[in-house]
Amino acid sequence: MALLISIGHDGWYTEEQLAEELRAIDPGADIRPISAPGNLEDITMLAVSALKGDLAAQLPNLQLVQKLGAGVDSIVAHPSVAPHVRVTRLKPLEPAQEIAEYCLAYVLRSQRNMAEHAASQSRSAWAPQAPKRAAETTVGVLGLGHIGGMSARLMRDMRFRVLGWSRSPKEITGVDCRHGEAALPQMLGICDYVCAILPSTPATRGLMEARMLAAMKPGATLINAGRGDLVDEAALAAALDKGTPGHAVLDVVSQEPLPADSPLWTHPQVTVTPHVSGWHLGDALRDVVENYRRLEAGEELLHEVDRQRGY
Ligand code: NDP
Repeated sequence: MALLISIGHDGWYTEEQLAEELRAIDPGADIRPISAPGNLEDITMLAVSALKGDLAAQLPNLQLVQKLGAGVDSIVAHPSVAPHVRVTRLKPLEPAQEIAEYCLAYVLRSQRNMAEHAASQSRSAWAPQAPKRAAETTVGVLGLGHIGGMSARLMRDMRFRVLGWSRSPKEITGVDCRHGEAALPQMLGICDYVCAILPSTPATRGLMEARMLAAMKPGATLINAGRGDLVDEAALAAALDKGTPGHAVLDVVSQEPLPADSPLWTHPQVTVTPHVSGWHLGDALRDVVENYRRLEAGEELLHEVDRQRGY
Protein backbone atom coordinates (compact mmCIF):
# COMPACT_ATOMS: atom_id res chain seq x y z
CA MET A 1 0.00 0.00 0.00
CA ALA A 2 1.40 3.41 -1.00
CA LEU A 3 0.20 6.97 -1.48
CA LEU A 4 1.21 8.73 -4.70
CA ILE A 5 1.12 12.54 -4.88
CA SER A 6 0.52 14.37 -8.16
CA ILE A 7 -0.37 18.06 -7.85
CA GLY A 8 -1.23 18.41 -11.56
CA HIS A 9 -0.51 22.14 -11.96
CA ASP A 10 2.16 24.73 -11.23
CA GLY A 11 2.21 27.64 -8.81
CA TRP A 12 1.24 25.89 -5.56
CA TYR A 13 2.85 23.26 -3.33
CA THR A 14 5.22 20.84 -5.09
CA GLU A 15 4.84 17.06 -4.75
CA GLU A 16 8.17 16.87 -2.90
CA GLN A 17 7.11 19.56 -0.38
CA LEU A 18 3.82 17.82 0.29
CA ALA A 19 5.43 14.39 0.59
CA GLU A 20 7.81 15.81 3.17
CA GLU A 21 4.99 17.44 5.16
CA LEU A 22 2.92 14.24 5.08
CA ARG A 23 5.88 12.08 6.14
CA ALA A 24 6.46 14.44 9.05
CA ILE A 25 2.94 13.56 10.24
CA ASP A 26 3.40 9.80 9.72
CA PRO A 27 7.05 8.81 9.18
CA GLY A 28 6.03 5.17 8.59
CA ALA A 29 3.70 5.88 5.66
CA ASP A 30 4.84 4.96 2.14
CA ILE A 31 4.39 8.35 0.44
CA ARG A 32 5.80 8.95 -3.05
CA PRO A 33 5.94 12.06 -5.22
CA ILE A 34 5.04 11.62 -8.91
CA SER A 35 8.74 12.13 -9.79
CA ALA A 36 9.61 8.84 -8.00
CA PRO A 37 6.48 6.66 -8.09
CA GLY A 38 8.22 3.26 -7.76
CA ASN A 39 6.18 0.18 -8.65
CA LEU A 40 2.74 1.44 -9.73
CA GLU A 41 1.12 -1.78 -8.48
CA ASP A 42 1.84 -0.62 -4.90
CA ILE A 43 -0.27 2.52 -5.23
CA THR A 44 -3.68 2.27 -3.54
CA MET A 45 -4.24 5.98 -2.89
CA LEU A 46 -3.63 8.95 -5.18
CA ALA A 47 -3.62 12.52 -3.84
CA VAL A 48 -4.15 15.25 -6.46
CA SER A 49 -5.03 18.89 -6.82
CA ALA A 50 -5.88 18.46 -10.53
CA LEU A 51 -6.07 14.98 -12.05
CA LYS A 52 -3.87 14.79 -15.14
CA GLY A 53 -4.35 12.59 -18.22
CA ASP A 54 -4.90 8.89 -17.62
CA LEU A 55 -2.78 8.68 -14.46
CA ALA A 56 -5.54 6.99 -12.44
CA ALA A 57 -5.97 4.32 -15.12
CA GLN A 58 -2.24 3.45 -14.87
CA LEU A 59 -2.63 2.41 -11.23
CA PRO A 60 -4.12 -1.12 -11.27
CA ASN A 61 -4.72 -1.29 -7.49
CA LEU A 62 -6.03 2.25 -6.98
CA GLN A 63 -8.82 2.40 -4.38
CA LEU A 64 -8.99 6.07 -3.44
CA VAL A 65 -8.43 9.48 -5.03
CA GLN A 66 -7.90 12.14 -2.37
CA LYS A 67 -8.52 15.70 -3.58
CA LEU A 68 -6.07 18.16 -1.98
CA GLY A 69 -8.82 20.73 -1.60
CA ALA A 70 -12.61 20.98 -1.90
CA GLY A 71 -13.71 20.95 -5.56
CA VAL A 72 -13.89 17.41 -6.94
CA ASP A 73 -15.52 18.17 -10.31
CA SER A 74 -12.37 17.24 -12.26
CA ILE A 75 -12.23 13.85 -10.49
CA VAL A 76 -15.72 12.42 -9.97
CA ALA A 77 -16.52 12.09 -13.67
CA HIS A 78 -12.96 11.62 -14.94
CA PRO A 79 -12.87 8.73 -17.44
CA SER A 80 -9.63 7.37 -15.93
CA VAL A 81 -11.19 6.95 -12.46
CA ALA A 82 -12.93 3.56 -12.45
CA PRO A 83 -16.42 3.47 -10.89
CA HIS A 84 -15.27 1.44 -7.86
CA VAL A 85 -12.59 4.02 -6.93
CA ARG A 86 -13.68 6.19 -4.00
CA VAL A 87 -13.15 9.95 -3.84
CA THR A 88 -12.48 12.04 -0.75
CA ARG A 89 -11.98 15.78 -0.37
CA LEU A 90 -10.64 18.03 2.40
CA LYS A 91 -12.65 20.36 4.61
CA PRO A 92 -9.90 22.62 5.84
CA LEU A 93 -10.76 25.56 8.04
CA GLU A 94 -8.02 27.89 6.82
CA PRO A 95 -8.91 28.18 3.10
CA ALA A 96 -12.62 28.40 3.98
CA GLN A 97 -11.80 31.39 6.17
CA GLU A 98 -9.60 32.78 3.39
CA ILE A 99 -12.42 32.54 0.83
CA ALA A 100 -14.88 34.19 3.22
CA GLU A 101 -12.31 36.98 3.74
CA TYR A 102 -11.86 37.30 -0.02
CA CYS A 103 -15.60 37.85 -0.51
CA LEU A 104 -15.70 40.31 2.38
CA ALA A 105 -12.67 42.21 1.03
CA TYR A 106 -14.35 42.81 -2.33
CA VAL A 107 -17.63 43.76 -0.68
CA LEU A 108 -15.82 46.29 1.53
CA ARG A 109 -13.79 47.58 -1.43
CA SER A 110 -17.05 48.70 -2.99
CA GLN A 111 -18.78 49.72 0.26
CA ARG A 112 -15.85 52.04 1.04
CA ASN A 113 -15.45 53.32 -2.58
CA MET A 114 -11.80 52.23 -2.58
CA ALA A 115 -11.43 52.06 -6.38
CA GLU A 116 -12.95 55.55 -6.72
CA HIS A 117 -10.65 56.99 -4.04
CA ALA A 118 -7.61 55.42 -5.73
CA ALA A 119 -8.68 56.96 -9.03
CA SER A 120 -9.16 60.35 -7.32
CA GLN A 121 -5.69 60.15 -5.79
CA SER A 122 -4.18 59.43 -9.21
CA ARG A 123 -5.67 62.81 -10.31
CA SER A 124 -4.58 64.53 -7.02
CA ALA A 125 -8.31 65.14 -6.47
CA TRP A 126 -9.82 65.44 -2.96
CA ALA A 127 -13.24 63.91 -3.72
CA PRO A 128 -15.14 62.62 -0.67
CA GLN A 129 -17.79 59.95 -1.24
CA ALA A 130 -20.03 58.57 1.51
CA PRO A 131 -19.43 54.91 2.38
CA LYS A 132 -22.45 52.62 2.02
CA ARG A 133 -24.05 51.33 5.22
CA ALA A 134 -23.75 47.60 5.98
CA ALA A 135 -27.23 47.52 7.52
CA GLU A 136 -28.69 48.90 4.28
CA THR A 137 -26.80 46.42 2.10
CA THR A 138 -27.88 42.91 1.14
CA VAL A 139 -25.34 40.17 0.50
CA GLY A 140 -26.42 36.91 -1.11
CA VAL A 141 -24.36 33.76 -0.71
CA LEU A 142 -24.90 30.95 -3.24
CA GLY A 143 -23.87 27.64 -1.68
CA LEU A 144 -24.19 27.20 2.08
CA GLY A 145 -21.77 24.34 2.58
CA HIS A 146 -18.45 24.31 4.39
CA ILE A 147 -17.19 27.52 2.73
CA GLY A 148 -20.45 29.27 1.83
CA GLY A 149 -21.84 28.75 5.33
CA MET A 150 -18.74 30.37 6.82
CA SER A 151 -18.99 33.26 4.35
CA ALA A 152 -22.67 33.85 5.17
CA ARG A 153 -21.92 33.91 8.90
CA LEU A 154 -19.00 36.31 8.41
CA MET A 155 -21.20 38.71 6.38
CA ARG A 156 -23.92 38.46 9.05
CA ASP A 157 -21.38 39.22 11.78
CA MET A 158 -20.32 42.30 9.78
CA ARG A 159 -23.97 43.49 10.08
CA PHE A 160 -24.98 42.99 6.46
CA ARG A 161 -28.44 41.69 5.65
CA VAL A 162 -27.62 38.17 4.41
CA LEU A 163 -29.55 35.85 2.13
CA GLY A 164 -28.31 32.31 1.53
CA TRP A 165 -29.13 29.77 -1.18
CA SER A 166 -28.56 26.03 -1.35
CA ARG A 167 -30.01 22.87 -2.92
CA SER A 168 -31.71 21.63 0.25
CA PRO A 169 -33.29 23.67 3.09
CA LYS A 170 -30.91 25.13 5.68
CA GLU A 171 -31.16 27.04 8.92
CA ILE A 172 -28.43 29.52 9.84
CA THR A 173 -29.13 32.02 12.59
CA GLY A 174 -29.39 35.53 11.18
CA VAL A 175 -29.34 34.37 7.56
CA ASP A 176 -32.46 34.31 5.37
CA CYS A 177 -31.99 30.86 3.78
CA ARG A 178 -33.66 29.88 0.54
CA HIS A 179 -33.29 26.80 -1.63
CA GLY A 180 -34.00 25.39 -5.07
CA GLU A 181 -33.58 26.92 -8.51
CA ALA A 182 -37.08 28.46 -8.55
CA ALA A 183 -36.14 30.67 -5.58
CA LEU A 184 -32.99 32.04 -7.20
CA PRO A 185 -34.16 34.80 -9.60
CA GLN A 186 -36.20 36.61 -6.94
CA MET A 187 -33.29 36.40 -4.48
CA LEU A 188 -30.83 37.73 -7.07
CA GLY A 189 -33.07 40.74 -7.60
CA ILE A 190 -32.62 41.99 -4.04
CA CYS A 191 -28.89 41.42 -3.47
CA ASP A 192 -26.31 44.21 -3.76
CA TYR A 193 -23.58 41.54 -3.78
CA VAL A 194 -23.87 37.91 -4.81
CA CYS A 195 -21.04 35.66 -3.58
CA ALA A 196 -21.05 32.33 -5.42
CA ILE A 197 -19.32 29.45 -3.66
CA LEU A 198 -20.92 26.52 -5.44
CA PRO A 199 -19.41 23.25 -6.63
CA SER A 200 -19.31 22.47 -10.35
CA THR A 201 -22.04 19.90 -11.04
CA PRO A 202 -24.41 19.27 -13.96
CA ALA A 203 -26.97 21.42 -12.10
CA THR A 204 -24.68 24.41 -11.50
CA ARG A 205 -22.69 24.55 -14.74
CA GLY A 206 -23.89 27.56 -16.72
CA LEU A 207 -26.43 28.45 -14.01
CA MET A 208 -25.52 32.14 -14.18
CA GLU A 209 -26.56 32.61 -17.81
CA ALA A 210 -28.20 35.62 -19.48
CA ARG A 211 -31.60 35.20 -17.78
CA MET A 212 -30.16 34.82 -14.26
CA LEU A 213 -27.72 37.69 -14.80
CA ALA A 214 -30.60 39.89 -15.94
CA ALA A 215 -32.47 38.95 -12.74
CA MET A 216 -29.71 40.57 -10.64
CA LYS A 217 -30.13 44.03 -9.17
CA PRO A 218 -28.84 46.79 -11.50
CA GLY A 219 -25.34 47.80 -10.40
CA ALA A 220 -24.90 44.75 -8.14
CA THR A 221 -21.59 42.90 -7.87
CA LEU A 222 -21.17 39.21 -8.67
CA ILE A 223 -18.26 37.58 -6.82
CA ASN A 224 -17.41 34.06 -7.99
CA ALA A 225 -15.04 32.06 -5.78
CA GLY A 226 -16.49 28.60 -6.49
CA ARG A 227 -15.97 27.31 -10.02
CA GLY A 228 -15.65 29.27 -13.28
CA ASP A 229 -18.13 27.19 -15.26
CA LEU A 230 -20.98 28.55 -13.10
CA VAL A 231 -20.96 31.67 -15.25
CA ASP A 232 -21.64 32.04 -18.97
CA GLU A 233 -18.76 34.45 -19.58
CA ALA A 234 -20.00 35.82 -22.93
CA ALA A 235 -23.40 36.53 -21.38
CA LEU A 236 -21.66 38.14 -18.38
CA ALA A 237 -19.67 40.55 -20.57
CA ALA A 238 -22.87 41.54 -22.41
CA ALA A 239 -24.78 41.92 -19.12
CA LEU A 240 -22.03 44.10 -17.60
CA ASP A 241 -22.14 46.33 -20.68
CA LYS A 242 -25.81 46.95 -19.84
CA GLY A 243 -25.08 47.58 -16.12
CA THR A 244 -26.81 44.51 -14.67
CA PRO A 245 -24.80 43.36 -12.86
CA GLY A 246 -22.54 46.37 -12.45
CA HIS A 247 -19.31 44.54 -11.63
CA ALA A 248 -17.92 41.01 -11.53
CA VAL A 249 -15.08 39.75 -9.33
CA LEU A 250 -13.84 36.43 -10.68
CA ASP A 251 -11.37 34.31 -8.75
CA VAL A 252 -12.29 31.36 -10.98
CA VAL A 253 -12.92 31.30 -14.72
CA SER A 254 -14.00 28.65 -17.19
CA GLN A 255 -10.47 28.21 -18.59
CA GLU A 256 -7.57 28.50 -16.13
CA PRO A 257 -5.12 30.11 -16.54
CA LEU A 258 -7.31 32.74 -18.23
CA PRO A 259 -6.00 33.03 -21.84
CA ALA A 260 -4.08 36.24 -22.55
CA ASP A 261 -6.57 37.24 -25.24
CA SER A 262 -9.65 36.82 -23.05
CA PRO A 263 -11.79 40.00 -23.06
CA LEU A 264 -12.31 39.50 -19.31
CA TRP A 265 -8.77 40.80 -18.64
CA THR A 266 -9.59 44.25 -19.99
CA HIS A 267 -13.32 44.62 -19.34
CA PRO A 268 -13.64 47.76 -17.19
CA GLN A 269 -16.25 46.13 -14.95
CA VAL A 270 -14.37 42.88 -14.32
CA THR A 271 -11.83 42.15 -11.61
CA VAL A 272 -9.86 38.93 -12.16
CA THR A 273 -7.74 37.15 -9.56
CA PRO A 274 -5.84 33.92 -10.41
CA HIS A 275 -7.72 31.33 -8.29
CA VAL A 276 -6.15 32.48 -5.05
CA SER A 277 -9.09 33.09 -2.73
CA GLY A 278 -8.37 29.88 -0.76
CA TRP A 279 -4.74 28.81 -0.52
CA HIS A 280 -3.33 27.26 2.64
CA LEU A 281 -4.20 23.70 3.59
CA GLY A 282 -3.17 24.09 7.23
CA ASP A 283 -4.18 21.23 9.51
CA ALA A 284 -6.10 19.45 6.74
CA LEU A 285 -2.95 17.59 5.70
CA ARG A 286 -3.51 15.45 8.78
CA ASP A 287 -6.75 14.22 7.15
CA VAL A 288 -4.81 12.99 4.09
CA VAL A 289 -2.61 10.85 6.31
CA GLU A 290 -5.63 9.78 8.35
CA ASN A 291 -7.44 8.63 5.20
CA TYR A 292 -4.33 6.66 4.18
CA ARG A 293 -4.49 4.91 7.56
CA ARG A 294 -8.26 4.39 7.41
CA LEU A 295 -8.09 2.97 3.88
CA GLU A 296 -5.58 0.36 5.04
CA ALA A 297 -7.63 -0.42 8.17
CA GLY A 298 -10.91 -0.63 6.22
CA GLU A 299 -12.45 2.15 8.32
CA GLU A 300 -14.89 4.87 7.26
CA LEU A 301 -13.07 7.60 5.29
CA LEU A 302 -13.06 11.29 6.14
CA HIS A 303 -15.04 13.60 3.80
CA GLU A 304 -16.03 11.01 1.22
CA VAL A 305 -17.77 12.53 -1.80
CA ASP A 306 -20.97 11.26 -3.42
CA ARG A 307 -19.67 10.63 -6.97
CA GLN A 308 -23.20 10.56 -8.43
CA ARG A 309 -24.21 13.89 -6.85
CA GLY A 310 -20.85 15.39 -7.81
CA TYR A 311 -19.84 17.05 -4.52
P1 NDP B 1 -19.79 21.89 0.13
O1 NDP B 1 -19.99 20.60 -0.58
O2 NDP B 1 -19.57 21.90 1.60
O3 NDP B 1 -21.06 22.84 -0.14
C1 NDP B 1 -21.64 23.00 -1.41
C2 NDP B 1 -22.88 23.87 -1.26
O4 NDP B 1 -23.40 24.11 -2.57
C3 NDP B 1 -23.98 23.19 -0.45
O5 NDP B 1 -24.63 24.12 0.38
C4 NDP B 1 -24.94 22.71 -1.54
O6 NDP B 1 -26.29 22.62 -1.15
C5 NDP B 1 -24.79 23.80 -2.56
N1 NDP B 1 -25.23 23.32 -3.87
C6 NDP B 1 -24.72 22.31 -4.61
N2 NDP B 1 -25.44 22.15 -5.73
C7 NDP B 1 -26.42 23.08 -5.71
C8 NDP B 1 -27.50 23.42 -6.57
N3 NDP B 1 -27.70 22.76 -7.71
N4 NDP B 1 -28.33 24.42 -6.20
C9 NDP B 1 -28.13 25.09 -5.05
N5 NDP B 1 -27.14 24.82 -4.16
C10 NDP B 1 -26.29 23.83 -4.50
O7 NDP B 1 -18.60 22.62 -0.64
P2 NDP B 1 -17.60 23.75 -0.08
O8 NDP B 1 -18.40 24.84 0.54
O9 NDP B 1 -16.49 23.15 0.69
O10 NDP B 1 -16.95 24.24 -1.47
C11 NDP B 1 -17.76 24.80 -2.51
C12 NDP B 1 -16.94 24.92 -3.78
O11 NDP B 1 -15.99 25.98 -3.66
C13 NDP B 1 -16.08 23.69 -4.09
O12 NDP B 1 -16.85 22.68 -4.71
C14 NDP B 1 -15.04 24.27 -5.02
O13 NDP B 1 -15.48 24.14 -6.35
C15 NDP B 1 -14.97 25.74 -4.64
N6 NDP B 1 -13.65 26.09 -4.06
C16 NDP B 1 -12.95 27.14 -4.59
C17 NDP B 1 -11.72 27.48 -4.07
C18 NDP B 1 -10.96 28.67 -4.56
O14 NDP B 1 -9.78 28.81 -4.24
N7 NDP B 1 -11.57 29.57 -5.31
C19 NDP B 1 -11.11 26.69 -2.98
C20 NDP B 1 -11.96 25.68 -2.44
C21 NDP B 1 -13.17 25.38 -3.00
P3 NDP B 1 -26.76 21.52 -0.05
O15 NDP B 1 -26.14 21.97 1.24
O16 NDP B 1 -28.24 21.65 -0.05
O17 NDP B 1 -26.23 20.20 -0.51
